[in-house]
Amino acid sequence: MRLRLPQERPAEPPRGYKIAHPVRSHDGRRIGFAGVSIGGAAPYGVVDEARCVYGRRHRSPALRCDCGFHCLHTLTDALALTCADAYRRAALLEVTVLGVYIRFERGMRYARQRVRVVRVGPCCCGLPPEVFVDAGWGRTGWRVLTGACAGCAAGRDMVGFAEFARLSGGRLRVLPGYLHTEGEGEGGAEVAGRAAGPAVRTVAEMAAEASLMQARVDWLQGRLARLTGDVTDPL
Ligand SMILES: [Zn+2]
Ligand SMILES: [Zn+2]
Repeated sequence: MRLRLPQERPAEPPRGYKIAHPVRSHDGRRIGFAGVSIGGAAPYGVVDEARCVYGRRHRSPALRCDCGFHCLHTLTDALALTCADAYRRAALLEVTVLGVYIRFERGMRYARQRVRVVRVGPCCCGLPPEVFVDAGWGRTGWRVLTGACAGCAAGRDMVGFAEFARLSGGRLRVLPGYLHTEGEGEGGAEVAGRAAGPAVRTVAEMAAEASLMQARVDWLQGRLARLTGDVTDPL
């Protein structure tokens, strides 16, 4: 007897939420996402198709296999995953579910997806993230990125959110913080506008960013100097 599931014909592709680690290729020319469960060893692109991780010759998702992309129905459920130790540095993704899907109570398993929104978690110091930095680990050919504030990112290899969006092909929105959620407020729209802005940043823009960061470092050094009482050589 063949297993059959009830068929749905939604007017538009379903949305879903998941967590993943943003990655950048070792040559810096491509970005993607490394999943947090099966299939995590092979990062996927912004628009990608699932392949059976067990090498079986069937299309994902198959009823008798657990391969395929996975997502949850609600942002709240995906947000809950970021509390776990292993996922503290992961980003929250909002995806469009494309192609064949199998619906479960809390989520879906499916054939194709488009990543629409990346919500980057806070810097490890607790401040809102402003850029991506190398997380210090990765997959073959891919470095995992994590969000950092300007202070913690100083002196490290950085990837701006706008640059990350540009490498995706430009249709990706990158939002600072998990909680740019339902009805995304003005802050989210502003950052998304920047992400979808001009593809190449000018030298003047980069110089302005560098001066801003230097000003923050100077301010921090001043504060440290006052706290330690060592005004002449704060660090
Ligand atoms: Zn399979
Ligand atoms: Zn920080």
